[in-house]
Amino acid sequence: MEKTELIDAYQSLGIDSKVIAFCEDIERNLEERFKAIDKVAEFNQMKVLKAMQDNRLSDVHFAATTGYGYNDMGRDTLEKVYADVFHTEDALVRPQLISGTHALTVALSGNLRPGDEILSPVGKPYDTLEGVIGITPAKGSLAEYGITYSQVDLLPDGSFDWDGIKAAINEKTKLITIQRSKGYASRPTLSVKRIGELIRFVKQLKPEVICMVDNCYGEFVDSMEPTQVGADLCVGSLIKNPGGGLAPIGGYIVGKSEYVENAAYRLTAPGLGKEVGATLGLNAPLFQGLFLAPQVVSGALKGAIFAANIYEKLGYSVIPNGNEERYDIIQAVTLNSAEAVIAFCKGIQAAAPVDSYVSPEPWAMPGYNCDIIMAAGAFVQGSSIELSADAPIKPPYTVFFQGGLTWHHAKFGILKSVQKLLETGILKL
Ligand SMILES: *Cc1c(COP(=O)(O)O)cnc(C)c1O
Repeated sequence: MEKTELIDAYQSLGIDSKVIAFCEDIERNLEERFKAIDKVAEFNQMKVLKAMQDNRLSDVHFAATTGYGYNDMGRDTLEKVYADVFHTEDALVRPQLISGTHALTVALSGNLRPGDEILSPVGKPYDTLEGVIGITPAKGSLAEYGITYSQVDLLPDGSFDWDGIKAAINEKTKLITIQRSKGYASRPTLSVKRIGELIRFVKQLKPEVICMVDNCYGEFVDSMEPTQVGADLCVGSLIKNPGGGLAPIGGYIVGKSEYVENAAYRLTAPGLGKEVGATLGLNAPLFQGLFLAPQVVSGALKGAIFAANIYEKLGYSVIPNGNEERYDIIQAVTLNSAEAVIAFCKGIQAAAPVDSYVSPEPWAMPGYNCDIIMAAGAFVQGSSIELSADAPIKPPYTVFFQGGLTWHHAKFGILKSVQKLLETGILKL
């Protein structure tokens, strides 16, 4: 193929040649980092493959179950595969876990009882968890059931406040919740290694405390997961990393048998637990998505790093910066104005395979405390392993960009965002 053919292809999708030229330079400089990402993906691919082979995954596991879902061999095998991939005793991986927030809610409410306290030693958790825990009052929150919450923020330099954490752990502390990814905050994402250090510290002070990690956006970014450095529970969404873009719904909870079981009794009913829950034919995409996930995550990571380098060069502040190690697939770009955030999101939307012709607008989403704009032209509604961007419309006007089922699509999305900023006159090249 001639190089001009590719340029023509981009131009036919509305990208100016100067945007292509600007971005091409940056891509060339990222070759070495992309190779390192490919190595992690290769390792994780083998990890997933081995778990599937060891559990003798077979065609019969793709059969649909209905009703109560007794003896759903596919579901039980999927859970064994997840347990192996995460090196845990047990797993709960279900389409009935309707989102990451729900999976976290089930893990928390299954393992906490009135009088218990949750501690977050890494600052405020993800927005939707505020209502779940009752940090902001909400019907049905854990606070309404007599479960209290305490929080220790990271220090200004992003390090753990060891003294503060020590002081916050008391006789009521039952569970600590560690959010791996920064989510919509501007603090750094935690590496698996740092999570391990934090867990070791907490366990020295109180060995029986349950250490739970909100693993959303972190799966397969590293060659290790938090459950390999002491996490008792790890929780996430299947319409993010581990679903590989194919899971149409679902969440997972992996960890120690006792805690996974407690969660299962809450998801279904006391006495029923993991024994029920029909999968309605969803096992195949959940397996296949997991199989593809290491590769999909590597594409999303490349996209995030590419975006960081582009926007840094354009003079914007980016977290993580262009050179930093990555621990999740989220890229934050501070665009300094609502107009720029909206233009960026319109670019991402225009790059989508689905709904590319619609224009995203800010709106008041349930669970969030200000207007949010979301760009997503996804095969699965709300899937953020697919190319997507979201931003709370409030200063400093930071957009959070993530996903891309393939690196080339992630790249195109970023080109399109630059193009939109150029067209609205916010940017000059
Ligand atoms: C996405 C996410 C969640 C859960 O979000 P859902 O949209 O409910 O799946 C929780 N924590 C973090 C850090 C997340 O990124």
